[in-house]
Amino acid sequence: MMELHILGTASARPTSTRSVSGSVFSCPEGLVIIDSGEGFQMRYARQRSRMKRQKEPSLLRPNRIVAVALTHGHLDHTWGLLPFLQTLSLDGRQQPLFVYGPTSPEILDRLEADGIDASMPEQTASAELLNQYRAWFALGGTSTRLGYDVRWLLGHPQSGRWVEFVHDATTLAWYDSMPQPEGFTTFRMDSIPTLHSVPSCAWQFSRKERKGSFDREKAALAGLSQKERKNLSEGIDVEHGSGEVLRASQFRGPSKPALSMVVSGDTAEQSIQPKAPVTVLVHEATFLNDTADKATQHLHSTAAGAARTAAHCKAQHLVLTHFSARLRDADDALAEAKEVLGQTCAVATANDGDRVRIDEDGNAILLKASESGWVQHNLTHH
Ligand SMILES: [Zn+2]
Ligand SMILES: [Zn+2]
Repeated sequence: MMELHILGTASARPTSTRSVSGSVFSCPEGLVIIDSGEGFQMRYARQRSRMKRQKEPSLLRPNRIVAVALTHGHLDHTWGLLPFLQTLSLDGRQQPLFVYGPTSPEILDRLEADGIDASMPEQTASAELLNQYRAWFALGGTSTRLGYDVRWLLGHPQSGRWVEFVHDATTLAWYDSMPQPEGFTTFRMDSIPTLHSVPSCAWQFSRKERKGSFDREKAALAGLSQKERKNLSEGIDVEHGSGEVLRASQFRGPSKPALSMVVSGDTAEQSIQPKAPVTVLVHEATFLNDTADKATQHLHSTAAGAARTAAHCKAQHLVLTHFSARLRDADDALAEAKEVLGQTCAVATANDGDRVRIDEDGNAILLKASESGWVQHNLTHH
């Protein structure tokens, strides 16, 4: 099972009902925060209390957070990070936290050549994440000052070259592939290159296809010894009685399909190259067709563009978010995306507080936030 709590569905300018970007990915191996715009920690706290009121399991508790994954450096995606890290510190956090963000190969080259205090290329955007990391270190964002280990990482999604700011950001450690967050073993996360006015990426969370579980009842009914049962459960065929061969596969339930969710940040319409088949794509849809020129100019997507991207990466479901404050009704975005997708891919729009869930069998469900909890919508093809 995996689930995404979408806690901000506005673009850079919030509205009275939509906040700036910030989501929480949840799986049995932990939580990953994807972007944390202004006020993120309030929205996270509110979602937790909403869950509590509905008597849902406390899967959003902060000690399950293993990582923060930034999609890019624009402030509507990052400005809430440091206060959030400081709250985790006040809560007495002990376990390490990975922070990932994309940067350019030029910045990595500078860091590699000149070390941690390297100057940045002249044309660097003010929202460059290295700029922000340095500001956050100066403002108390180091492991010693926070009281828990923050593993600050910057990388280039296209090449897989990553650098970590270690020892309270006094030295650098280099990687030729992105380190996985602690505790991720059956799940993994990958950065997927996207196209925006600053270095950017989407994040893909995936779980491989899994063997079905051992059918204890069937084994018990077959009157097998403990040793035979053990072998079968470990995938070893056994010879039972007078030469009858029992195949381990006969004692397995159906296998669980591979699951994956891709969460984009801001990006122009383009062909994303996912690392695994995409069950759900959560994609920005800042503009509508009538402002498509703005989308092109600012390297954002229209709802139709998001739909074309979904079709191109063969996503089974698409959820639209990151709406311009000018958008009156998200149904307009929905209609334009549907026109592109037809029957090939189910599409929905997100509001703040909505949850997107993929169950063990690969079914996607949208849980729409309402006054009294969540209302379930099957993301089926219609
Ligand atoms: Zn944005
Ligand atoms: Zn942006």
